Amino acid sequence: MLLNHHYTKQVYDQLAKRYPYQREYLQAVHAFLEAVDPIMASKPTYQKQAILERLVTPERIISFRVPWMDDQGQVHLNQGYRVQHSSLLGPYKGGLRFDASVNEGIMKFLAFEQTLKNALTGLPLGAGKGGSDFSPQGRSDQEIMRFCQSFMTELSHHINEKLDVPAGDIGVGEREIGYLYGQYKRLKGVELGALTGKPIQANGSLGRRQATGYGLIYFLEAMLAADKKTLEGQRLLISGTGNVGLHAALKAQEKGGLVVALSNRSGSLYDPEGLDLDCLTSLKEGGRINLAAYKGHYPQADFSTASIWARPIEAEIALPCATQNEIDAQMAQNLIDHGVHYLAEGANMPLNLDAQHVFNQAKTMTWAPGKASNAGGVAVSGLEMSQNAMRQSWSLDQVDQELQTIMHQIFDTCQAACQDYQLGKNYAAGADLAAFNQVVAAIEAQGLV
Ligand code: NDP
Repeated sequence: MLLNHHYTKQVYDQLAKRYPYQREYLQAVHAFLEAVDPIMASKPTYQKQAILERLVTPERIISFRVPWMDDQGQVHLNQGYRVQHSSLLGPYKGGLRFDASVNEGIMKFLAFEQTLKNALTGLPLGAGKGGSDFSPQGRSDQEIMRFCQSFMTELSHHINEKLDVPAGDIGVGEREIGYLYGQYKRLKGVELGALTGKPIQANGSLGRRQATGYGLIYFLEAMLAADKKTLEGQRLLISGTGNVGLHAALKAQEKGGLVVALSNRSGSLYDPEGLDLDCLTSLKEGGRINLAAYKGHYPQADFSTASIWARPIEAEIALPCATQNEIDAQMAQNLIDHGVHYLAEGANMPLNLDAQHVFNQAKTMTWAPGKASNAGGVAVSGLEMSQNAMRQSWSLDQVDQELQTIMHQIFDTCQAACQDYQLGKNYAAGADLAAFNQVVAAIEAQGLV
């Protein structure tokens, strides 16, 4: 969809001119501008206040080198980042990603999306994102620890529990957060709330590990319930066998869904009778699940190096939980052609712009944007901050109840925005508009910031 209003066009064109190579950042901003474009005509003061420019531009970008030594004594240098996008609603909050693909544009897109996502949670959380182009894959535990210590030696200058509270993302799980927190403590002293996603043994929250995947299913259930449907008997396709994908699969199965296909970087695995998730989790090698090895246990299963989204698999629900832009327009059409009616994003921006447009035009398709449906992780991070501040440790059940409440509230917020703006079931636009209104209110309340 094109931008129609002169102000949204101007904001996008300026960014595209200034950051021509930051593809993902431009894409995330464009998708957001498409959603707010129709209301700009009724808000002429926004341009004078430079509301959109202030919303899409990070407050601060920190970029630093990370020297570390491998097990053979070879020294490596990676690039580290922390994008402190917005402190309007609270301390900067958002994960760290360790992946070879990381660059400044990807960090900026994630930090921008995080701003809208955190607003939707209703918690007092600003937004940031960080990480490095270091890939933990194939690295020993000792190498990962040395990298994390070096990364934190620099990052510790820029974070603390009142200012900026990082958590995990791709390539950063409890192990990495544990090493990062250990180093932070050596440098700055005990400060429980400086990071979230911590291991339970280091004052983490029960339920944080599962939160994004479980939260995704709670959101999906609310979306289905609005159409008087449940997960019972529905076939699901899920990409990603990491933190988000696996926990989403387990919760979907618990709710009566049938997970027929899963994928990771190696390829995709399909079993029309439903995958045995216990068997799959037992196939973990070096932190990753060996999907191809599943065939040794279930010969009828079909492993392929093809993308899960390109395969002709019949299913009702798709949950992309791997990475950005994993679904293009052709894949989106493939999903529609094979019966998929619902999609909820576990990953951040897994649909490219063309795929979003294909889904928006398809009458049979309802989809939820990650900034709403994957907000469970940051929501429970917020609960971890509360527990740390109160020196409390809540039960798994209490955290899970809070998570369900928050995910249902986020769905209600998106639905209400869809009603207010007559968007039908365009939850992506509803989420953007609801978050936008909240952030604009915070901008207006705080003056020229
Ligand atoms: P993990 O590192 O735990 O798992 C990522 C999974 O995605 C792995 O199975 C990995 O494959 C697969 N994957 C990653 N990159 C690619 C790629 N380029 N092509 C194919 N498969 C790929 O990360 P998370 O589960 O934490 O994060 C997944 C997504 O969810 C990301 O988009 C993240 O931003 C988003 N997210 C995460 C949150 C969290 O709390 N962790 C919160 C909100 C969003 P392999 O196993 O082969 O490495």
